[in-house]
Amino acid sequence: MSGNGAPEGLDSGVGGLSGPIRTCVGCRQATSKADLFRIALVGTTAVPDPTGSAAGRGAYVHQNLNCFERAVRNRAFARAFRAQGALDVEMVRKFLAERSGE
Ligand SMILES: [Zn+2]
Repeated sequence: MSGNGAPEGLDSGVGGLSGPIRTCVGCRQATSKADLFRIALVGTTAVPDPTGSAAGRGAYVHQNLNCFERAVRNRAFARAFRAQGALDVEMVRKFLAERSGE
């Protein structure tokens, strides 16, 4: 046994994170997609898409109101969706409020 290390390096991503990486539109932190919450756009309404199955463009944000409100203030959703005008984000706000209010 000559103590050679395990042959890693084939699929080693950033800091051991596995799977797709996405950026939170609130705090701009890049993290595993599994840690983020997907928001889809229907017309001009942002809707929660926790399963990530909605078609079209999506925006990712941490599942907490802090990141969400930050994204709203920075108009990050409009940018992510390439929307021209204001978006209705009340559905998402309500969704997150219910989840974080336990
Ligand atoms: Zn965040």
